[in-house]
Amino acid sequence: MIVLKFGGTSVANAENISKTIAIVSNKSNDDKLAVVVSAFSGVTDLLILAGKTAAAKDKNYKNIVAEIEQKHKAAIDELIPLTEQTEIINTINSNINHLKTLLDGCYLLGEISIRTADSVAGFGELLSSQIIAVALKQKVSNSEFKDSRELIKTNSNFGKASVDFEKTNKLIADYFDKNSNQVVLLPGFIASDTAENSTTLGRGGSDYTAAIIAAAVKASILEIWTDVNGMFTANPKIVKQAQPIENISYQEAMELSHFGAKVLYPPTIQPVLKDSIPIFIKNTFEPDVYGTLISKNPVSNTNPIKGISHIDKIALLTLEGSGMIGISGSSKRLFETLSRENINVIFITQASSEHSICIGILNSDADVAKEAIDTTFEIEISQNKIDPCVVEKDLCIVALVGESMKNHQGISGKMFSTLGKNNVNIRAIAQGASERNISVVINEKDVKKALNTLHERFFEDNTKQLNLFVMGIGNVGEKFIDQIAQQKKFLKDNLKINLRVIALSNSRKMLFDEEGISLKDWKNEVNNGETANVNEFISRVKALNLRNSIFVDITADYDIASIYDQFLSENIAVVTCNKIACSSKLENYKKLKSLSRKYNAPFLFETNVGAGLPIIDTLKHLIASGDKVNKINAVLSGSLNFIFNNFSETYNFHDVVKEAGVQGFTEPDPKIDLSGVDVARKILILIRESGYAMEMEDIENNCFLPQECMETTNNEDFFKSLTKHADHFNNLLKEAKAKDSRIKFVASFDNGKASVGLQFIPKESPFYNLEGKDNIVEFYTDRYIEQPLIIKGAGAGAAVTASGIFADVIRIGNV
Ligand code: ADP
Ligand code: ASP
Ligand code: MG
Repeated sequence: MIVLKFGGTSVANAENISKTIAIVSNKSNDDKLAVVVSAFSGVTDLLILAGKTAAAKDKNYKNIVAEIEQKHKAAIDELIPLTEQTEIINTINSNINHLKTLLDGCYLLGEISIRTADSVAGFGELLSSQIIAVALKQKVSNSEFKDSRELIKTNSNFGKASVDFEKTNKLIADYFDKNSNQVVLLPGFIASDTAENSTTLGRGGSDYTAAIIAAAVKASILEIWTDVNGMFTANPKIVKQAQPIENISYQEAMELSHFGAKVLYPPTIQPVLKDSIPIFIKNTFEPDVYGTLISKNPVSNTNPIKGISHIDKIALLTLEGSGMIGISGSSKRLFETLSRENINVIFITQASSEHSICIGILNSDADVAKEAIDTTFEIEISQNKIDPCVVEKDLCIVALVGESMKNHQGISGKMFSTLGKNNVNIRAIAQGASERNISVVINEKDVKKALNTLHERFFEDNTKQLNLFVMGIGNVGEKFIDQIAQQKKFLKDNLKINLRVIALSNSRKMLFDEEGISLKDWKNEVNNGETANVNEFISRVKALNLRNSIFVDITADYDIASIYDQFLSENIAVVTCNKIACSSKLENYKKLKSLSRKYNAPFLFETNVGAGLPIIDTLKHLIASGDKVNKINAVLSGSLNFIFNNFSETYNFHDVVKEAGVQGFTEPDPKIDLSGVDVARKILILIRESGYAMEMEDIENNCFLPQECMETTNNEDFFKSLTKHADHFNNLLKEAKAKDSRIKFVASFDNGKASVGLQFIPKESPFYNLEGKDNIVEFYTDRYIEQPLIIKGAGAGAAVTASGIFADVIRIGNV
């Protein structure tokens, strides 16, 4: 005999019920079946709500009952031919009338007893099973309905009654012995006590009903049919990458379900364990998928971790004080107190000093628990031997489960370091002696991040998901996004990096998509996005709390440069081509660096100097390996280089500067380049990265622009002033010709002093042949004494800058 159980979604409406019936009818050809069904999806919740509403003297309970009635009648209409409906409609009417009478009573009394509440909650299964039994009879004529309350006997612990297995097993075995029908259909969840009152087996208890029947008839298999493809490596609603576990042991499945894998009600395994009846978890909507087989000796794969589960709405109670030490019986008194209050303890840790004991219970039990514990230890508290019980709410337990964890070292280390890297604070830890489970208590706000990052670490072949929040989608930003779209697959296949763009914003519009923005039509999507708002952008990035979040600043904006601290202090990495932050006050630069260290959030700005050239990275490696930079000579402005390389008798200064702007080689405000400010910022950053403390004011700026050009306040006036002072620029050109040299804007640092300014470079210098928009940097260090370390190449342009940003992002992915 096979026992099948169909959950709430499998019987949510006529369409789903037809799928359920098709599965049952197929199987009934080969075996005798007991089929247990849940209430239609959502109906138990509605019934409980109706009870509470009536007890609160709110007439709305009548509307709730009407909604329930309507759902069931609609199913009858669709499933059962009109001519056959009379009897079932009468049955449903009589059930609904009974329900109404109970609720009317609650309304009149203004209260609901636990006994009545249990009767009310059980109507869902009663209604669903009677309708499905009639519909099934159309397809399988030798089938019948049996009310589980006549077979499953419990105590009177209403809400979650305990089964009297002796009586129950006998009743079930006798009934099925005598029964000759091929299929018996029964309601899950409900049972009855010795006085024939309706009881229930606890929320999600239909799984348990099926297991009780399976054990009593010694079924060959118990099948739990639900709405997912089995028991997953993590809750598939929270972890998109979760996969069904094909084979799992009873103990592992029990551990996962106890720690929140709702797909199986935790007590379900216990009845079938004795006879090792295998449990299959199958999907009603994809019946051909294998599902999960829970058995005694599962075929195991090499991963010692089977799954990750979690329970939310947890409170942590800590009882501590010198009075706990050495006095046997403190924990006994603590647990007795909780048991007296009917409070379920989910998690326990005790420091080996015996100084404190920490327990995890449901949030909803916390206040009662605290009061009871403080009363129990009243005397010790008044003598200051024990502190009043401390309660922390809104926490969550995350558990790693796997039978063979005990044979593998370093799993907890991996778990803690993965959480630590993502700034998930661990409040408490417990590991069972069986080593089948390691659980940690964390803040509820971190649960999604914790589950996903742990799943990635233990199940996803080390694929790392990076989540980008991009601010600034102009020239460079556009190239950057194109590069991501182009490289996405390569990164996944070769570097195991899953790069996702979660947000895009310019100064007008912003677009967020938690699942990752499809980069096909992003420009249009951003244009149709919401109005941009920097503060809103920041709060959304924080609230999403995604693992490996990276804020990418592709603006040249002062305000944006001033928000990095808000990201870094939330463990969100910052990648920026905007030079403002790193060249701001030394104190600010140091603060950002220290936040980055403190919160383990990378802060990378390779493109601040020389666009995509690996200058800062090289410098970092020199310093890390113990070298010391003594002198730097550099041409760091691709824009000025482009301008002076093209400026000639036939191509006037004004036009060259304009062209440089058109080609994207200058800052949006070209005066920043021409005044030398941009180069001063860059050499300042290199000096700071070399380990020297310096401020912007300490850099001597030998500006070559006439005063009047410097004083302009907008681009238009600036360009006019360039034409007006054409002679000044032409004279520079003449002087260079006369000296047989070329004009370069050079930045230097030597002996603790830094300067920037125009120089006439003679032919012998390596700077002489610097073409186009190239940059060059010479580092003279303790190891590179006579011949400097030279880095040279294109130092401006949207594509190379974008690739420099890209490289920083990948650096984070490779950490
Ligand atoms: P049913 O009504 O069929 O009994 P439940 O809602 O009780 O279904 O359980 C199935 C749900 O359990 C899934 O839809 C899924 O959201 C949730 N779930 C939580 N953790 C897991 C897990 N590890 N594997 C599968 N499902 C899980
Ligand atoms: N209908 C009950 C509940 O929602 C039992 C079940 O579905 O398993 O809790
Ligand atoms: Mg369930």
